[in-house]
Amino acid sequence: MKKLFNYICMGSLLFTATSCGDEWLNLEPSTSIETATSINILSDVEFTLNGIYSDMQSSNAYSGRLVYYGDVRGDDMQAVSLSKRTGDYYNFGHTKDNGPSSHWLNLYSFIQNCNLILNNIEKIDATGKEDYRDDLKGQALAIRGMALFDLTRIFGYPYTKDNGASLGVPIVSDSKGIESKPARNTVAECYTQVINDLTSAVSLLSGDFNKGKFNKWAAMSLLSRVYLYKGDNTNALAMAEAAIEGAEGEGWELWSHDDYPLAWADDATSIAPGEVLFEIVNSTTDSPGKESMGYLNSKDGYDDMCITTSFYDLLSKDPDDIRLKLLITDKNRYFYVFKYQPQEGEAITDANIPLIRLAETYLNAAEAAVKLGDNETAVKYLDPIVRRANPNKTVEGMTLSLEDVLNERRKELVAEGHRMFDVIRNGLTVERYDVKNSKMSKTKHFSSHMEFDWNFYRIVLPIPKAEMDTNPNMVQNPEY
Ligand code: CA
Repeated sequence: MKKLFNYICMGSLLFTATSCGDEWLNLEPSTSIETATSINILSDVEFTLNGIYSDMQSSNAYSGRLVYYGDVRGDDMQAVSLSKRTGDYYNFGHTKDNGPSSHWLNLYSFIQNCNLILNNIEKIDATGKEDYRDDLKGQALAIRGMALFDLTRIFGYPYTKDNGASLGVPIVSDSKGIESKPARNTVAECYTQVINDLTSAVSLLSGDFNKGKFNKWAAMSLLSRVYLYKGDNTNALAMAEAAIEGAEGEGWELWSHDDYPLAWADDATSIAPGEVLFEIVNSTTDSPGKESMGYLNSKDGYDDMCITTSFYDLLSKDPDDIRLKLLITDKNRYFYVFKYQPQEGEAITDANIPLIRLAETYLNAAEAAVKLGDNETAVKYLDPIVRRANPNKTVEGMTLSLEDVLNERRKELVAEGHRMFDVIRNGLTVERYDVKNSKMSKTKHFSSHMEFDWNFYRIVLPIPKAEMDTNPNMVQNPEY
């Protein structure tokens, strides 16, 4: 019954999206609230949730900007040129007057709409449908937690820099959202809220496959990532291990070595869920368009971003690494990462966006374990990733360093939005350099910021000018 209901509801949403052009994709926060029908029955909750997922699908959000942000600001990927969409992100070119507002507006819009659900769902009579109600509530909590986590890591300094003492972003839990002119909370307060939301989500969410929706294992994996960012390695490891055990018990599994190069195009189903725990589902009739990851990462698209020569040098040290097969080249001038593969019958603009993969959960576990000095556990979780890439390799019998784990992480998660955050949260330095005699004839760095760590003030974005101008309680980030 539940599956059928989901299908009908998605059907009516798609109809709405088609008949109203891009309206669902481009809702501003205030419009979203007005558009949301009052929430009286559980189907209203599901309808509102579908609207949030649809907003998340925008190329200004999780089909584009919110993902590539972490890549082009690091050392493994770069903008193809400064005039590209990714140019200012790559070159840290934003000032307090021209900083992008889309991250702020989109993420607060998701939070605001989740608040609408969370502030009303307990009033609904769910007799006989408690599990369904709990799952919907869990999804809203998971999305709100993810949105606040992303806001905190984009606008606030890493928790590990000062134990969260510096300013994060406002925590808003009423339906007014940022229109109530809130002040910023500390990074520590934001992490507490994120962890509370995700912990509650984990206790409520179903572990069943639910296409394009948050499930229990995705929320647990995200929570392990949050703990890792916070430096709470004990909880990061425990949460990642539980997520892996739970997900694999329900049929998720790492893609095989042979399947890896093309598995990204798979349209996951409950029979074959693969290794993607949470993805944005795009399709021909419901596409984020040309500003999406698929089009930006392609030589046949806007060719906006490519890998750096130093990343190619790292990955190609093992010529048999299967991940080399994901690199598509344009006469050896640039190498593009082909992870955003369209599903059957689709164009590259319609590629799904995997946001949380089981491989990351393994890497979260390995990183937490190595930091806890638990080499045996670190090996246990790193080895499947290493051997998947090349079945003739293993880390068994090795004493792993943090660098070993982080290098495997960058090779596995390139182009998925992690790298800059992974360097910075570990207190390390982003070092951008060109490898001489690289196979890539035209790829060269052109940024004025080639080496930086968490002391560089521009590793956080400025609070958007519109927010500063209208909210007297808002404080700008230092030095902007
Ligand atoms: Ca698709």
